Amino acid sequence: MKALYLTGVACFFMAACGAPGNDPSEDAAEISPQAILSAQNAAQYFDRDSLAADPKIVDCTLSGGATAKCLSITLKPAPESFTIGPWCPRNISDGPDVSGIWLEGGKVYDADGAFIQNMSTFYDDSDWQMFDPATGKINITDSKISCAAAARPDVDPQYQNHCVECQISYLDEGLSPTYVIPLHPVPALNIAPRVDHGGVGVAFSGARLDASAPTDAILAAHTVAPFDDCGGHVNLNAGYHIHAVMDCLTEVPGAGGHGSQIGLAMDGYGLFARYLSGGVEPTDLDQCRGHEVDGIGYHYHVNAPGENAIIGCHSGQTGCTLEDSGAVCDSSQVQGRPPRGNVPPPGRDNR
Ligand SMILES: [Zn+2]
Ligand SMILES: [Zn+2]
Repeated sequence: MKALYLTGVACFFMAACGAPGNDPSEDAAEISPQAILSAQNAAQYFDRDSLAADPKIVDCTLSGGATAKCLSITLKPAPESFTIGPWCPRNISDGPDVSGIWLEGGKVYDADGAFIQNMSTFYDDSDWQMFDPATGKINITDSKISCAAAARPDVDPQYQNHCVECQISYLDEGLSPTYVIPLHPVPALNIAPRVDHGGVGVAFSGARLDASAPTDAILAAHTVAPFDDCGGHVNLNAGYHIHAVMDCLTEVPGAGGHGSQIGLAMDGYGLFARYLSGGVEPTDLDQCRGHEVDGIGYHYHVNAPGENAIIGCHSGQTGCTLEDSGAVCDSSQVQGRPPRGNVPPPGRDNR
């Protein structure tokens, strides 16, 4: 893990910048309407350089069958707001500055050379041997073919004991996933127990926030697919996507000391940073990691990065994740049959 830096938005709102001598009650009155950014007024906060097209309003059908107006956001394959990678160390002598991270048991570990060297002890399994004992060279998927073969649920045996990473340059030309998110959240009739393949939502930084990484399947094949210091990595279908929120996403200050908003969930509710402004975690979160706050409304707070679950579930009806930005979102057609929308069928790539 290299040193993290904040790309926080320093002075987004006039009121938040607070010219000295301002009447505090006047500030409060100005901040209040901005307390939470729904999809309707959040479009302007997305990093424009990370979008493949201007956000637009489209008709959509949500997962529970509600017809709605949605914000359609098409991302570039990787964000421009921060540098992605590195993931796999090249040699067991490589340090955390040229390596990513791994998540296990609620904790974040540097996936550096020493970690790779220690895998058999860490997982108490002598079948781990991801490096050449003579040279220390680590086995890495260093081509599009090997990254695709290693990312299959049934990992090609020749790529077992490999550190798996895919580069943005391996992606098909024109890959630009589109996220269709309701302008006004509609509560779900049945709350699913977890976030499905449609993903958690989209960060203002211009990155997809994804469902839990299938680390059990990855480890079962004696592979590891590290995340970079922003908690993300690349697969051939979704491009760059984040499984754990670290301290490098753009934060839009919330009102009243309620922390910062980092993006939108697929059901249109706001996604807030883990901590409130005082550095404490809210204590009244529901199973989805959401809560209702007077003057702010319902929203989520993201989980600790080591948990490999950015939020627990969606309380509202979700929109779509589309491969084709021109496709119409009807999330009700694929409800309960992940992935939602026109994303590739499960099995082709589950990373
Ligand atoms: Zn909150
Ligand atoms: Zn992934």
